[in-house]
Amino acid sequence: MVEIVDSHTHVSLLPYEGLENMALAGVKKIIGCSLFFGAQHAETLFDHFHQMLTLSRTNAEKNGIKLFVAVGIHPMGIPKDWPRVIEALPNWLRMDGVIGLGEIGLHEGSRLEQDVLREQLIIAKEFQLPVIIHTPPQKRMEITNETLEIAASVGIKPEKVIIDHANVDILDLIEGFGAVPGLTIRSDGITPQILLHNLERFQRGVLNSDYSNLKPNDPLSVPKAVQYLKLNKASPEVVARIARYNAEKLFGI
Ligand SMILES: [Zn+2]
Repeated sequence: MVEIVDSHTHVSLLPYEGLENMALAGVKKIIGCSLFFGAQHAETLFDHFHQMLTLSRTNAEKNGIKLFVAVGIHPMGIPKDWPRVIEALPNWLRMDGVIGLGEIGLHEGSRLEQDVLREQLIIAKEFQLPVIIHTPPQKRMEITNETLEIAASVGIKPEKVIIDHANVDILDLIEGFGAVPGLTIRSDGITPQILLHNLERFQRGVLNSDYSNLKPNDPLSVPKAVQYLKLNKASPEVVARIARYNAEKLFGI
C-alpha cells in the first residue's frame, strides 16, 4: 500500500473517527490548514491555531498519523483586526509542527482579500516557507490570475506556492508560473476519473481531501483516488509522487 500524505485538510473540523478511518486507509501524514469561517477577532484565529497544534496533533498521533500545521488567514474568515494576526504570524511560524502558511488566498478577490494575501506572502517569502493558496469555484481564471500577479509582485519562489483546488481549467496558469498544483479530490472538483485521464499533466501536484464540514467532502477521497488509479493501472511511480513524495519534499516532512 502507498503511504499517503493528505496535503490539505481542515483537521479541527474532522471527527475523531475521520482520523481513524484515514489511518486505516493508509494516510500517514496530513497537513492541517487554518480556516475559521467568519472569524471576527484575531484571538479566534490564535485559538484555532493553538487547537490544531495541541488537541488535533494529539488525536492524529493516537491514530498513528503525523499532523503538520499551516497557519494563516483564510479569505472566508478575515478578522476586523487582521493586521494583529499578520504581526503574530512570525511567532507561530517558528513553532514546532508549523510547516508553512495556509490556507490563504482570494475568494471574492476584494481589495481587503488582496491586501491580506500580499502581507502573508511577504512573510512566507521572508521565512522561505511553502504557502497553500485557495482558488474559488467561481471566476477561476480571473482570481487565479490575480493571485499569481500578487505572488509575482512579492517575489516569492514559485516552487513554494501551491495553487490549490487546481483543475484542468487553470492548470496552464499554474504551470506558467511554476507553482505546484494542489489536487483536491471531490465530486465538484477533480474526480478520480479526471485525475486518471490527466495524470501526466498533474504529476507535479499534491493530492488532498480539503476535508471540512462547509460542503460535501470525504476524508477518504485521497485513498479512494489512489485505489482507483491502481485498479486502472496508472504508473505506480506517478501515483507515489502525487500521493506522497511531492508533498514530503515540498513541506520538508
Ligand atoms: Zn481548504
